[in-house]
Amino acid sequence: QKTKVKVKKNTALAAPAAPAAASIEQRIAALLGQMTLEEKIGQLNQYSGREVTGPASNRKNDLLNSIRSGQVGSMLNVKGVADTRLIQAEALKSRLKIPLLFSLDVIHGYQTVFPIPLGEAASWDLAAIRESAHVAAREAAASGIHWTFAPMVDVGRDPRWGRVMEGAGEDTYLGSQIARARVLGFQGEKLGGTDAIMACAKHFAAYGAAVAGREYNVVDVSPQQLWEVYLPPFRAAADAGVATFMNSFNTLNGIPATGSRYLQRDILKGQWQYMGFVVSDWGSIGEMVPWGYATDKADAARKALAAGSDMDMESDAYHATLAQSIKDGQADPALLDDAVRRILRKKFELGLFDDPYRFSDEKREKQVLNDPKHRVAARDIARKSVVLLKNDNNALPLAQPRSIALVGPLAKAKRDLAGSWVVLADTAQITSVYGGLSKRAGKNTQVRYAKGCEVQGDSRAGFAAAVEAAKASDVVVLCVGETWDMSGEAKSRTDIGLPGVQTELFQALKATGKPVVVILMAGRPLVFNAIADQADAILYGWWPGSEGGHALADVLFGDYNPAGKLPSTFPRSLGQVPISYQLYNTGRPVTKPGDIRYKSAYIDSPNTPRYAFGHGLSYTSFKYDGLKISQSTMAAGQTVQLQCTVTNTGKVAGEEVVQLYLRDLVASVARPLKELKDFQKISLKPGETKTLTFTIDQDKLAFYNAKLEWVAEPGDFQLMIGSASDDIRLESKLTLQ
Ligand code: BGC
Repeated sequence: QKTKVKVKKNTALAAPAAPAAASIEQRIAALLGQMTLEEKIGQLNQYSGREVTGPASNRKNDLLNSIRSGQVGSMLNVKGVADTRLIQAEALKSRLKIPLLFSLDVIHGYQTVFPIPLGEAASWDLAAIRESAHVAAREAAASGIHWTFAPMVDVGRDPRWGRVMEGAGEDTYLGSQIARARVLGFQGEKLGGTDAIMACAKHFAAYGAAVAGREYNVVDVSPQQLWEVYLPPFRAAADAGVATFMNSFNTLNGIPATGSRYLQRDILKGQWQYMGFVVSDWGSIGEMVPWGYATDKADAARKALAAGSDMDMESDAYHATLAQSIKDGQADPALLDDAVRRILRKKFELGLFDDPYRFSDEKREKQVLNDPKHRVAARDIARKSVVLLKNDNNALPLAQPRSIALVGPLAKAKRDLAGSWVVLADTAQITSVYGGLSKRAGKNTQVRYAKGCEVQGDSRAGFAAAVEAAKASDVVVLCVGETWDMSGEAKSRTDIGLPGVQTELFQALKATGKPVVVILMAGRPLVFNAIADQADAILYGWWPGSEGGHALADVLFGDYNPAGKLPSTFPRSLGQVPISYQLYNTGRPVTKPGDIRYKSAYIDSPNTPRYAFGHGLSYTSFKYDGLKISQSTMAAGQTVQLQCTVTNTGKVAGEEVVQLYLRDLVASVARPLKELKDFQKISLKPGETKTLTFTIDQDKLAFYNAKLEWVAEPGDFQLMIGSASDDIRLESKLTLQ
């Protein structure tokens, strides 16, 4: 039973003293002037609310008392109008009545589950990605949430790391565009909107580069890599106005990110002049002690504050120790004031001082959470996230078959389709592939279901029934992959192959001679060579969310023509990891078969990836033509237009992601063979041609030189337009003078 509390809206607050019309900075100054040392530190503390809601017997009274005495600035994991109002009312009993910020990991949806972020990235559809974040924010806001710990903008090139599911893949340019889209989706153009919440760019920085894909670990990256690969998506989020940053569990070149002045003070708040605040990751201030970077909690707190970590998530280090450190002259009170100002600024911008309950009421909550438009948006982006990896002899789309054998441990799965980081894991509202397919197949098509095996485990007891179903049907649709708990936080794996006996199940089905269409659903790029070689068609569906089953049925039957493109390279084996399309010309290409001295390559495997970054097929085909460059030499400050035409040469309408890559041929540091610099997603009817223009300015030609200066150096550049990083269709040259 939820407790209902009656609270007056727009309560006239004692604080701030300045009139509401005063500028936010004046209101902050007025409020800060009234705060005691303890109240200031109070704003810096964030605690998990699992213990303050729910049955009264579970509640931690000391935490409630802390809230009442103004010693807590923010709560995480309290959700829902009833609970957030209840706890906010406690905060408003404090002397200065400063409202709490309610935060939560709203990673890919709140009530309506959207595809996992890595899946959405495969859509390369910035408008749809923005809409997904907007819907999530709308639902969360209606449910009393002010702030999400998303987007995760960490570039990830190692699929052993389970958290690749939460990011936008391996590429910095694509990742930066998506970071911006997500921030704008969550927050809107300006903080304070009814259907919006604050976003958080995390984890600052380079968390995705952990050694060997180990979670919470050591990161050693060169300054060049840091600036060129890992920082730009954070910069893009900051430029889009992201309200907060989260620092990170990992060390960066020896220093725990949470204690890194270089990252937080020099780069973020210095060079980038960032005005939001930085929250630590869960307990990461305290973790500087086990890292051997701080002697005890007090030392860790001093180091974190000095480094620029404004809010302490769950370490209790600021609360327990900072007051004493300041009294002893060991911590700088000016830094404390700065942190408090940053947090109060966001509370003001969000409008919390004007309405601490932010228009949340249970009626509105119910309405918004059940808005059918949200399911429409979820289905739209779920279809756009699907990548057609392979389609031999046009096995797809399915011509209306008389019977389908729907096989596999994920065919009827619901919870797994939601993936990791689900807020309201209400599995009843998730459409399974079975549900979506049966509905679409209609009365004239018989669907024979057989599970075949589990995702994990070695029992083959279900194979026989699966083979029988296959033999009796026109076509087999096999659903395999990972269960929802196999990728995500703290889910690093040493083996990224398809788990259990799923590959054997595939082989048993293939042996029937029936066409086998495989749907893979997982939180990361998996290795599945037998399927890649022998399946008739393969769809990568990621974990597609609430509408996953409908979305996949749309694609199977050709109601929607797939257009997803891989945001991450898919390796052939774990030995190729970490992997990205950004390779270099080592001067030792594989030119002499058999002569291993000349190979900068593995001798026991093809050196190409299984599927390249940017790869993804369609039910139609596209012809690239008519390349024109406005000028082949470019003077400083000029821009150049690169034009091409794309024609739909097939029989059905389709979308294509046209990708622009570039190579700097000779520079003061060696440059990759290809870097994505732009893309356009277009939609073409059969026979239709569109002309596309890419603008190349100096920024697109620039990189970080050895002195870490962002420079475009004179010389020749190769320009490439293609359908994937390994499918370049048009090439041109440009000389920068
Ligand atoms: C994760 C963060 C998350 C936080 C709060 C941490 O363990 O690394 O990404 O936002 O928990 O749940």
